[in-house]
Amino acid sequence: MKKNDVASILKLRNMDFNVKSQPKNFRLRSLLNSIGLKPSKRFSQHFLIDEKISERIIDYAKLSSHDAVLEIGPGLGVLTKKMVKKANVIGIEKDKKLCEYLKKIPGLTLINNDALKTDFPKFDKIVSNLPYHLSSPLTFKILEHDFKLGVLMYQKEFAERMTALSGRDYSRLSVNIYYRAECKILETVPRTSFYPVPKVDSAVVSLKPRKPPFIVENESIFFKTVDTVFSQRRKKTKNSLLNNWKKFTHEKGKMENIVENIKNKNKRPEELSPEEIGEISDIIAKHIIR
Ligand code: SAH
Repeated sequence: MKKNDVASILKLRNMDFNVKSQPKNFRLRSLLNSIGLKPSKRFSQHFLIDEKISERIIDYAKLSSHDAVLEIGPGLGVLTKKMVKKANVIGIEKDKKLCEYLKKIPGLTLINNDALKTDFPKFDKIVSNLPYHLSSPLTFKILEHDFKLGVLMYQKEFAERMTALSGRDYSRLSVNIYYRAECKILETVPRTSFYPVPKVDSAVVSLKPRKPPFIVENESIFFKTVDTVFSQRRKKTKNSLLNNWKKFTHEKGKMENIVENIKNKNKRPEELSPEEIGEISDIIAKHIIR
């Protein structure tokens, strides 16, 4: 084969590639143009353009006509338009311009508000490609509610921290989630599946609330213990607790007594299972609450 032939084949392939990938982007871009919206970084606006992924997200949620589904940040309705055909959908979208567009979707109940500032309606399932800058507060708000299943898209690294139970990604977030829900990564999603392309890859996560897998004496002390031991990841538990005694008690001496009673006091947070952190918090609770 001559050099020129190779070049023309490559050129053709390139063209092919453009022709294939352009329509997804192109449709979305002209839609954005027509509603006069320039995707905003401040609102984490990255729209899903891969139809196959949006179909799989909806399959994971196993929607039925009895389900009330909450969607946070429906955007241009990639997921919404499919979901209204299967279930009752309530969307909470902060962006006014997007709401103008979304309100034309038949069967959708729409709330134009900040999802952090508005009360959630009752829901059985939550399916959303979340605004990533609010992943943490939104997830904790979601988990305050009683629901059956969440299928949620997050930044991949965040999803890894949510689901880790050991190692580098094991964190305050992991323990907080583990205590409240069963959480799994269902699939990772390349950044090229969005427009505009974000700087990071994403992951779809399933979140199933459940009863705590272990019992603690006092939940508020447990969560405070989790925060404290992970606030200084490289320090031994005993030192983190001693440095932060004021969070728990009025007397430093009391915390000194407490740490002596903790069998895992010399371990670092990565070496402690959620249950073991629970045991530590029980010792604190027993000494503090008389
Ligand atoms: N679900 C869409 C859009 C995801 S982008 C899709 O998959 O294509 C994130 C969406 O969350 C955007 O529509 C953005 O406007 C919205 N959003 C950002 N902050 C919000 C907030 N505080 N409350 C509700 N929606 C918010």
